[in-house]
Amino acid sequence: GAPASSPVAERVEKPTQEEYIPFLETDPEESTLSIVVVGASGDLARRKIFPALFALFIEDRLPENFTIFGYGRSIMTDEELRNIISKTLTCRVDKRCYFIELCLNFESIFIWYVLTNYVFLFVLITVILRDYRENCDEKMDAFLKKCFYSSGQYSSEEHFLELDNKLKEKEAGRLSNRLFYLAIPPNMFVDVARCAQRRASSENGWIRVIVEKPFGRDTESSRELTRGLKQYLSEDQIFRIDHHMGEELVENLLVLRFSNLVFEPLWSRNYIRNVQFIFSEDFGTHGQGRYFDNYGIIRDIMQNHLLQIIALFSMDTPVSLDAEDIRNEKVKVLRSMKPVQLEDVVVGQYKGDCDGIRCYPGYTDDMTVSNNSLTPTFAAATLFINNARWEGVPFLMIAGKALHSKRAEIRVQFRHVPGNLYNRNFGTDLDQAGNELVIRIEPDEAIYLKINNKVPGLGMRLDRSDLNLLYKARYPREVPDAYERLLIDAIEGERRLFIRSDELDAAWAVFTPLLKELEEKKVAPELYTYGSGGPVGVHYLAAKHNVRWG
Ligand code: NDP
Repeated sequence: GAPASSPVAERVEKPTQEEYIPFLETDPEESTLSIVVVGASGDLARRKIFPALFALFIEDRLPENFTIFGYGRSIMTDEELRNIISKTLTCRVDKRCYFIELCLNFESIFIWYVLTNYVFLFVLITVILRDYRENCDEKMDAFLKKCFYSSGQYSSEEHFLELDNKLKEKEAGRLSNRLFYLAIPPNMFVDVARCAQRRASSENGWIRVIVEKPFGRDTESSRELTRGLKQYLSEDQIFRIDHHMGEELVENLLVLRFSNLVFEPLWSRNYIRNVQFIFSEDFGTHGQGRYFDNYGIIRDIMQNHLLQIIALFSMDTPVSLDAEDIRNEKVKVLRSMKPVQLEDVVVGQYKGDCDGIRCYPGYTDDMTVSNNSLTPTFAAATLFINNARWEGVPFLMIAGKALHSKRAEIRVQFRHVPGNLYNRNFGTDLDQAGNELVIRIEPDEAIYLKINNKVPGLGMRLDRSDLNLLYKARYPREVPDAYERLLIDAIEGERRLFIRSDELDAAWAVFTPLLKELEEKKVAPELYTYGSGGPVGVHYLAAKHNVRWG
């Protein structure tokens, strides 16, 4: 790594955040944006941040004058960073070019020729495709030329001063705004905030800092992290990212609720029987057990991602779409949630399985996890919201690894039709199922409503059918990655999808007592087979709260 830090002279006072000139009100030619990816050699930076920045570049969403700097302890040249980045730019250009790439390789060209058997058509298609690819390559080169690297320690103010000098060189005396993305372990956050604010903060523009979860392990550690960051940054400079908040369908939740007449009047205990929030992965920890074993599924998925989605789902109508108005409503509903009780929770851990073709390792087979680990890789929890709108409605949260499918969805089960004529007169038990609204966040984004419908014909037979909005059928345009949306929001100062410190505190209050109890009582997780539907206990939990599950 780079040499250790040494003391450097204090710099002049920075303007307060209010004194900064709003980015969008400045002449784009006169202002610059520097994006510093701290931890540039890491997995998150390579897989998500650089590709998202590239996608924004291609979409012309980045300002005219921008520079990207990678920062980290690893010693690297600009060229080496560019090589790393270029390998992971499998972003939208590549996706759009997927068909083109296929067509351009030799075998495909031959197949094209045989299939079409029209020389003219063949030549035309090949020329168009080649142009398209050249265009992709050009854009990639232009993007990579904007990427630089500066190595240094995370706690060295001297090294951040070196970074500052390099940034200034690129900014060339223009109004400079700086965005730091902390893609590093959280125990480094406060050091980086200190160094960035003291030594590499802009003198005439804004500085914003994006931080990734985990934001602590419980209420106390989360508050400590917040206190640490706020020593150097104000709340409006901190952008706590929860990438699921950038998912298309999560953003659409508010549109669905507040711009349609038909949903909001039903959005309460009067019509909704229960709501399920499901987040399942069809793979295990894959050698990343060391990180996971320290957190477990409740901290990794439930306390943050699922709770954030529940807050958006259940909050009251905000005064406006302003970030603070939305976040005020989220805090209110989070504070109305009762802390989750141990008797309303099932925890599980996956065990290995062989299906005759392949063997799948169990959680504790991961070399980085101890053999007697009690860390849950699956959890189901029922949550209640103690307010007039939701009292008594179970919100069932389910999150797990190594399950049979990968999906993230919200399922809203409505109450039965009172005195249902069709139940009485035709003896059908269809109404038992009731209506169900499903919001599928991934894969294959969709919103569908299960309704009872008459089967066409002379008799009277009812069928359970779907009113279906399948995104890929309705919207041919590719759905942007969550990181793209969140990055552009942070650049534009839009805080709606980021988590405010009081929200975070309220979210930890819901889960901290449970997490402590699980650990103190050393609750053993129920084992479930890799690739199954999870522990059997989840069915009992669902039945206890009258939730139709599975
Ligand atoms: P990595 O483990 O890949 O670390 C990122 C970089 O941080 C490394 O390349 C390294 O850079 C530096 N680093 C690693 N370990 C240490 C250490 N012990 N002390 C100081 N520096 C270290 O992490 P990820 O990229 O996976 O994640 C970064 C952050 O984002 C973490 O907080 C993670 O929890 C969070 N996150 C990650 C997600 C993902 O998909 N990967 C998803 C959601 C959150 P160098 O050696 O050059 O300094």
